[in-house]
Amino acid sequence: MAFGVSDDLLGTFVPIVVYWIYSGMYVMLGGLNNYRLHTKAEEDTKNLVSKGTVVKGVLLQQVFQIAVSLILFTLVNDGTGVVPPQPPLLVIAGQFLIGMVVIDTWQYFMHRYMHINKFLYRHIHSKHHSLVVPYSFGALYNHPLEGLLLDTVGGVLSFLLSGMTPRTSIFFFSFATVKTVDDHCGLWLPGNLFHLFFNNNSAYHDIHHQLYGNKYNFSQPFFVAWDKILGTHMAYSLEKRKEGGFEARPVKKD
Ligand SMILES: [Zn+2]
Ligand SMILES: [Zn+2]
Repeated sequence: MAFGVSDDLLGTFVPIVVYWIYSGMYVMLGGLNNYRLHTKAEEDTKNLVSKGTVVKGVLLQQVFQIAVSLILFTLVNDGTGVVPPQPPLLVIAGQFLIGMVVIDTWQYFMHRYMHINKFLYRHIHSKHHSLVVPYSFGALYNHPLEGLLLDTVGGVLSFLLSGMTPRTSIFFFSFATVKTVDDHCGLWLPGNLFHLFFNNNSAYHDIHHQLYGNKYNFSQPFFVAWDKILGTHMAYSLEKRKEGGFEARPVKKD
């Protein structure tokens, strides 16, 4: 317990607060024309929904997320009120890694299937793709059913299979949230630590949001392994745009 608030509640609400704080930070940096992956004009013309609609869509999805998360924590709670002790740091690191692999594996296959199945794409996943030029707080702009299937169920599986405690999950889900927002930030900022540690990043995922990349780069949110293994990996190069910023261009395979 921290300040009388249970880990279950923190695990549910902290990632949502983190989502808006972290994406809010990117909103403030949005004017950095020299680091944008698309011009502002492109953002205005290519995206099919307004920012107000996106905010409402994300909030709706988060309501679903809260409900499922509270149900899950209630189910795994033994009712004694005793907070399980934290294992050694190395074990927590292992659980983090297992959680990342589980969520990536679940999301890769579900995400790819949503592109293969025309009905699911048209009625569910196309909503996420209505942002051709991604921006931070659009990261979780999904059909509620997609949010439930990909993010929430993926989160539940990673929690259960990794064996992490509810306390660890506060950090794990916050980390996954930050990573997802970062991949949609629409910027290529120097010194971004995620770009050092992950090949799956804002440029990699930007390719997936373009028409030509729609059948590639399904992997999310952490690694690119499944794309590499199953041949759906599209490499890109970052070219400086004369209006400022960078453009992620696909590198042709030969
Ligand atoms: Zn997609
Ligand atoms: Zn996306």
